[in-house]
Amino acid sequence: MKVLVAVKRVVDFNVKVRVKADNSGVETANVKMSMNPFDEIAVEAAVRLKEAGSATEIIAISCGVAQCQETLRTALAIGADRAILVETAAELQPLAVAKLLRAICQKESPQLVIMGKQAIDDDSNQTGQMLAALLGWPQATFASKIELAEGRAKVTREVDGGLETVSIKLPAVITTDLRLNEPRYVTLPNIMKAKKKALETLKPEALGVDVSPRLATLKVVEPPKRKAGVKVPDAKALLEKLRNEAKVL
Ligand code: AMP
Repeated sequence: MKVLVAVKRVVDFNVKVRVKADNSGVETANVKMSMNPFDEIAVEAAVRLKEAGSATEIIAISCGVAQCQETLRTALAIGADRAILVETAAELQPLAVAKLLRAICQKESPQLVIMGKQAIDDDSNQTGQMLAALLGWPQATFASKIELAEGRAKVTREVDGGLETVSIKLPAVITTDLRLNEPRYVTLPNIMKAKKKALETLKPEALGVDVSPRLATLKVVEPPKRKAGVKVPDAKALLEKLRNEAKVL
């Protein structure tokens, strides 16, 4: 069974993001970039399925600039077998990525696509759902457990009220939540091995996909600065303030 995993290159989660001076977006020049954390969980999930004998081949896909190759090499070092970069300098919105992934699914015929529930840069939480809709495949989002058996996936999902378990028929799209697993550390020998694995580069045009943005970003601004706090002498004064100012009690 082939498993496809989508990995996005994003600003590293430890970096404090800065908005560009012209408010057109977030500064990415000279900023540390890494694999989207939810996608690391997706790669780890795929590797565990392969280790358990349920998956035979793992293909990592990234869409974006040439440097996404580094993200793909990380996926290969975690345990993916080969990688595909859909290279473009264009701004990619979730629908465009979903269309590119659909084209790759049509080419590769995977039984399962595992991707992050959201990218930490745009927080869209859309690509997996759009891909499932475009392919007409079932989807299970926010997965915290995946079990495969007899052409179906039993997926535990994290929902507001607790955990929901669904059974979906393969081929399907699954998006990962934080508690699905803890990705392994990438070891040096595996980084070396990953350098020898195949990494194919395609252009969106070769897949027949128009990636032009559908939405225009009007403005990106920093969150408002927090006002300075005040010190209160004792619990009585704190309660007083909460009663009269915060109106929470
Ligand atoms: P989003 O809908 O943008 O929040 O992204 C959800 C998931 O879609 C991510 O966690 C990735 O698995 C996948 N994805 C989004 N953008 C890309 C991209 N440019 N390349 C590869 N995968 C992507």
